[in-house]
Amino acid sequence: MDDRRPTGAGPSRAHGRFARAALAFGLVLAVAQPVAQAVAQAATEPAPPAEPVAAVAARIEQQKDRARLVFETTAEVRPAAFPVADPYRIVVDLPETAFRLDPEIGRPPKEKRGADDLVTSFRFGQLAPGRSRIVIDLARPAKIMRAESETTLDKPRLVVELAASDATSFAAEAARLAPAAPRAAAAEPAPAPAPAQGGKPMLVIDPGHGGVDVGAAGPHGEQEKTIVLEFARALQAKIETQGRLRVALTRNEDAFMALDERVRVARQAGAELFLSIHADTLGEASVEGATVYTVSARASDAEAAKIAEKENFADRAAGLEPKSEDAGEVGDILYDLTRRETRAYSRVFARTLIAYWRTVGHLNKNPSRSAGFVVLKAFDIPSVLLELGYLSSARDLSRLVSPEWRERAAEATAQAIERYFDERQEQAREQQAQAGATPQAMAARPQ
Ligand SMILES: [Zn+2]
Repeated sequence: MDDRRPTGAGPSRAHGRFARAALAFGLVLAVAQPVAQAVAQAATEPAPPAEPVAAVAARIEQQKDRARLVFETTAEVRPAAFPVADPYRIVVDLPETAFRLDPEIGRPPKEKRGADDLVTSFRFGQLAPGRSRIVIDLARPAKIMRAESETTLDKPRLVVELAASDATSFAAEAARLAPAAPRAAAAEPAPAPAPAQGGKPMLVIDPGHGGVDVGAAGPHGEQEKTIVLEFARALQAKIETQGRLRVALTRNEDAFMALDERVRVARQAGAELFLSIHADTLGEASVEGATVYTVSARASDAEAAKIAEKENFADRAAGLEPKSEDAGEVGDILYDLTRRETRAYSRVFARTLIAYWRTVGHLNKNPSRSAGFVVLKAFDIPSVLLELGYLSSARDLSRLVSPEWRERAAEATAQAIERYFDERQEQAREQQAQAGATPQAMAARPQ
């Protein structure tokens, strides 16, 4: 019981992995910046940044009812820390900070955790342009004793000290310290879309998670947010090469994006199809293969319900309060009709996608499922969520990190998308022809 560490974080631990992860992280940033697309960018670009502060090491020390997190940084930073309930977390907001850290550093393996630890894990990453965030997950309510930068022996560091408290004082602190508009902390709204080019249909690809919301993690530090962004970029490239559709990504960098923001970006871009990409984990390592999800009020099965619950947690993972669903328009007959038609088209696309994946991908034994995914709830945009596979399955994982597999799977997905739009255009032409034919037929009818 007394494996009282420092847990985790010294440079001595898993040095190779640390270096690799740091390198990969650096690469993601290096690639992400220049190609960041208009649609994923904030309206107001910050001035050309001075070198952002970097966090270069992190460690946590815990003793009964106490926890102390230390981030070694390249300069002092000014943190804003506040508690968020349900589940209990401490959020630490920072100016833009480059986390040159093993992303796994905040998830010590079970055997290294103490039974009565106050902190179970912590995450970090970008929240919005110019803003970063650390989210500390708690086993039980805690009070912020200290959250500040200090410099000792020329070494700046950010120190967060926590002590166990109780539910009542946690709630009081949360109310007192909560930023005025926590949801405004998310990414700024995207700029209006470019005007339609030659009437080509618009596809919006939504790489799940990002920034401080890392999504699922594989056994060797593989991260869902990175895997799905790479896939989304590969798919975008295929679609652009074909040149028959317009395509945009909800995010094209490693930044957090709230769920309703993703839908808003799709709507602003004039999306006629919305495809959200994920690669989750499930408890059972035997569950494997790609799964295509559509939205439904009642989950098709227990696994689908579990996945939807995880995905819908994304906003909270970044320390945002979930927004209550806008039910304002429900009951409106046009709204209901549009939504019914949208969901029918979502299912049509889901079937097409599964058919194409059968040829190259590796499908789940029950690849067509549905549940209450928040990100699929646009009433007027056919929306589908593709789980590429499960990071909890060794076989899926080996595919998910393979560039060859990614190319083939992206190709099949691109073909399915084009097939779907072909069919819709054909349908539209038929409907037009029928509408045009009817009055003439009426007029020509003999008396
Ligand atoms: Zn996910």
